Amino acid sequence: MSLLAALPTLKATIDAHGLGARKALGQHFLLDANIVRRIASYAGDLDGRTAIEIGPGPGGLTRALLESNAARVVAIEKDERFLLVLAQLKEAAGERFIVAKDDALRHDLLHYPAPRKIVANLPYNVGTELLVHWLEDIAKDSAVYESMTLMFQKEVAERITATHGSKDYGRLSVFAQWLCKIRYDMELPPGAFSPPPKVSSAVVTLTPRKTPLFPAKKETLEKLLAKAFGQRRKMLRSALKGIIPDMESFFAESGIDPTLRAEQVDIAGFGRMAAVLELRDKIG
Ligand code: SAM
Repeated sequence: MSLLAALPTLKATIDAHGLGARKALGQHFLLDANIVRRIASYAGDLDGRTAIEIGPGPGGLTRALLESNAARVVAIEKDERFLLVLAQLKEAAGERFIVAKDDALRHDLLHYPAPRKIVANLPYNVGTELLVHWLEDIAKDSAVYESMTLMFQKEVAERITATHGSKDYGRLSVFAQWLCKIRYDMELPPGAFSPPPKVSSAVVTLTPRKTPLFPAKKETLEKLLAKAFGQRRKMLRSALKGIIPDMESFFAESGIDPTLRAEQVDIAGFGRMAAVLELRDKIG
């Protein structure tokens, strides 16, 4: 039996160390080895890659990642109570397991060798913020992450994957799909976690496109999305007031009906609007 396989169960580990979940840190643990293996499998081949896990907690998903052929597994955990358990995991796993006690919001993931794949059951309170952070890395260089397999609250996973015409479609959908191909992998009910959260969860895998869906500066697109979806009930001709001087020609050149609301415009439509905005900035 390998050293990893000989470790006590996660439940026994949590009980032995008195690791009660902390709500403020979004702690909902996955204790079923089949579920964590399934999540790890959505990351695809890890051979030669650095697998980066945010929030290993007691280490269920971490064990599944260590069972893979990843070149190394990096685990970044904010709660120091887990360090002892993670140190025991390191004893079994050896040098290819790296633990960093830090806040993932400020930890430099690009410091670890590429190619990198992020795999995580994210703390829900900072899940969206972390994703936006990584998408900003990808906007600068699409090669920074090969993929990101992430568990979110189901409602966030639906916003990431939504297409135009849906109530979930918004800034996050356009920004994420502009930069990445996205697959909706699986859903988990609250009862799959200990303690159970109030809502269901879902795993999505985001794979950065070599080049974004359309050429645009991130800043232009962000400005456009913030205005358009900031008042999502309004027609675009009202919502975009203030950033567009000559509205009529702007919509004509973009091929967008000004009476549409933001949620009715597909991603390519936002691309055309961003291109016209940038052209005007260049000329103006
Ligand atoms: N990976 C474990 C699992 O699947 O059972 C735990 C997942 S739990 C949803 C989220 C984990 O993220 C917790 O271990 C929590 O302490 C950790 N965490 C919360 N905020 C964090 C942050 N800002 N940086 C790093 N880890 C964080």
